[in-house]
This record gives sequence, C-alpha cells and structure tokens, in this order.
Amino acid sequence: MIQIVCKSEAYTYNVYHIVKAFFPSEEISSKVEEKASHYVMVQLPDCSQIVSEDSVILFGTGISTEKEMKYRLDIWLYCELKRITGHSLAWGILTGVRPTKIAMEKAEAGWDKGTFVPWFEKDCLVSREKAELSWEIAKREQELLGKLDYEEGYSLYVGIPFCPSVCSYCSFSSGALSDWEGRVEDYLDALMRELAFIGEKSVKKRLNTIYIGGGTPTTLTALQLERLLTCIDTYFAREYLLEYTVEAGRPDSITREKLEVLRKHGITRLSINPQSMQQKTLDAIGRRHRVEEIVEAYQLARELGFDNINMDLIAGLPGEEVLDMKDTLRQIKELSPDSLTVHSLAIKRAAKMEWTDLNGDAGKISGMLSEMIEASADAAAQMGLKPYYLYRQKNIAGNFENVGYAKVDKAGIYNILIMEEKQSIVAAGAGASTKIVLKEPIQMPGSRKKKLTCLMRIENVKAIDAYIDRIDEMIERKGEWLWR
Ligand code: SF4
Repeated sequence: MIQIVCKSEAYTYNVYHIVKAFFPSEEISSKVEEKASHYVMVQLPDCSQIVSEDSVILFGTGISTEKEMKYRLDIWLYCELKRITGHSLAWGILTGVRPTKIAMEKAEAGWDKGTFVPWFEKDCLVSREKAELSWEIAKREQELLGKLDYEEGYSLYVGIPFCPSVCSYCSFSSGALSDWEGRVEDYLDALMRELAFIGEKSVKKRLNTIYIGGGTPTTLTALQLERLLTCIDTYFAREYLLEYTVEAGRPDSITREKLEVLRKHGITRLSINPQSMQQKTLDAIGRRHRVEEIVEAYQLARELGFDNINMDLIAGLPGEEVLDMKDTLRQIKELSPDSLTVHSLAIKRAAKMEWTDLNGDAGKISGMLSEMIEASADAAAQMGLKPYYLYRQKNIAGNFENVGYAKVDKAGIYNILIMEEKQSIVAAGAGASTKIVLKEPIQMPGSRKKKLTCLMRIENVKAIDAYIDRIDEMIERKGEWLWR
C-alpha cells in the first residue's frame, strides 16, 4: 500500500499517476491535508517516505502560476522515484492520454523536429525514442487532417453494445448477446430514431467519417445490419465521406452474408481483431473462438473485396511471454492487414483478471512490455506499416502507449480525430459520447469549475435498457447543441 499526502488538491492527480506508473500493481491511497508540512509526501511500499524539499522546489525564479508549481513537483517526484526504483519511464512525467497532441501543437506553432525532440526529452523527461515517435506521428496526422474541413465537417459514431460473449479485460459497457436477444430490435428502433434526428439536424454539415463500433456490430444479424445501414444511407449524404468503418471485432460474429451486406452499403474499412493468435490466451480471456476462425474471417473479407482491414492486438495479456507475442506477430505478418493497432494491457484490467505475473515488479513488467512493443513496431515496419496515431490509457503498466500503424493510404482518419479533438463527433447509441467542437470557449453547463472549454461533451446513458427507455431525452439533449 502506498500513501500520498498533498497539501493541495491541485497536485494529487499528477502525483498519483506518476507514482502509479512506477508501482503499477500497488494499491494507492491519496489525501489532501492543507496543513501538511510539505507539498507532497509519499509513503512507499517498504514504509520509507519521500517528501518534497519545498525550499529546493521553490528555489530559483519565482513561481508565478500553479501550473509551474505542479511542474516542479512532477519533476522532483519523477527523479526521486527513478533514483529509488532504478527505472525510468518512457513517457517521463507525462500523465495525459494524448502526448502527440503536444507534438501537434508545437508543429502547428512552426517548430521543427530538431527543436521539438530535445525539448520534449529535457522538459518532460520523455525518452528520445518516444519523442521521435511523437513527432513522426504528429507530422503524419497533420498531413492526413489537412484534407478535412473542421468547421463544416463532422464525424458520426454509431454504437452497437452487444458481443458474442464478454471478454474478461473489456472496459466497454457491452452485453453478451444471449442476455439481450429479446431487446436487440428495440435497441435498433431507438438507435435509428437517434440517427434520423442527427441526420436531419446535420443536412447542412459535411459528413467526413462514419464509425460503427461497440461492442461488436457484427453480432447483429445480416437482416438487422441491413436495416441499420439502410437507415444511415437514408439520412446521411456521402458527398464528403472519406471513410466508413465497421468493427467486426470478433471473428465468431462474422459470416459471408453479413460481410456481403457491409460491401453492398459501401463500408470502406473493416476491423477484425484477434488481440492474440495464441489459443491458450483466447481461452483465458473469454474469447470463445478458435485462432483458425480469425484467419478464415480475414480471408473471407479479402475474398469479398475489402481492401482496408485493420487488426488489433494487445501486448501483455495474461500468461503471455515475449515469445507468444512474437509468434502472434509472425502470424499477423502472414495475413498482412492494411493497418495494425497494438494496445498495451491496462494494469487495472490485468489485476481484475488476476494475472499472477503482476507481482509488483515494475521493472519486470516494464521490460517485458517494452520488448513486446518493440517487436510490434519491427513487425509493423516489415509489413510496410507506419505509425499514425498514438494514445495512452490510464494505468498502463510501465507507462506505455497504444499505437496504430497503417499503410500510407490506409490510416484510420476517425482514430486520429478522436485523439486530436479538432472536429465534432456526433455519437449515437448506448454509452456513446458526442463531442462538439465550439467556435468560442464556454463554461461547461452545470460545472462548478470556472475553466472554459471549446469541447462540449454530451453523454448518452450507458445501460442498454435505460437508453431504449429514455431515447427521447437523449435526442433532446443533443438537440440543444446541434449545431450551435
Ligand atoms: S469483443 Fe471487444 S467490446 Fe466485446 S466484450 Fe470483447 S473486448 Fe469488449
């Protein structure tokens, strides 16, 4: 157990996440004591303590803002934990989920690589390799997003919250189809009402990308898919559409008939996600299908003409060693998808799965993930795929990241838009989160914080039943903001 005491609420977030990155499997408690004698105190698992030497942190030029103070504390804490554990973190003091956003901002401000990389290394303690990766990705994103009209354009997300079975590491609010079979039609009715509303409200806007995700959209029957896609065809024009993705995540949900429906409705990008090509792992994480089914589904999609197929993998799944990951990558290379997304397993979920290798040895976990991530980057390069988007999740062991690699003309534009938050994404379905990019900053309605924002978030309720029952309310909430 690690205990953190901070003098101000403002420091707790970063302190917690930096400590967590060094001690991924430790339980951490954190509290604020305004009268504490130091800005930050951390009691470590071996019961030793580190306290911020406030006079040293405050030394030098005057600290004019709370941001500056937080930054100095982050640097101090990182250096102390690095000294104590003997490990460093690839992303240094960065706790945010979108490090490439920083690179993008600098690129837009006219910086070049020669200025950015040493600055990122020195000021944020990011490794040279990650600093270079961030820059490479930011430049590629800039190029791809250059095609878009942010003001008049928007993207559409459609959520199907059903799966053939629920995987043990899943962080989405999906339900097993067997539990919901009697309500799928009601869900589709509600969803199509929401889509019709969005389409009618958006006739003057330019739809750039559509992403049907979940869950696993291909758990719907061919007939249900036909209904849904026809509804989208009816209410949304394709004049400005650059990409139309459907997640066919689980191979056990894919049939020839369903893929034919997707082809008929002009889906341009398909995602078939193995996560691992090791049968023992698929069994352990509750994905009730065989490795062969992944290969068969992939080959069927190719046979039917899909020329942009993505595959997702997860590094660090329970029981997997580096050799397993390398074998999975070897099999993926044989299939040669157009894009590959490699996630690092978030520690929270690993713990939920009682992954016994998580013995608190951050160095061991970090070393193993690092090798897996390196092997993935090598395999992607051998397949001719380049990194094009990157994001981090909270509590990824060793402070790692998720990276999307793609052939030059097959990058998922929607994935970049989600990360960069430059264009509005209107989302329909249970648990779907709409983000409207505003022209002028506003204070979030209902929020006590004075901070202004240009990003208005409208969340649909997560529970499937509640979404069906409260669809009028979901529509009304959106209506207030489409399109201010
Ligand atoms: S297929 Fe994906 S969304 Fe469905 S339960 Fe598994 S991880 Fe979650």
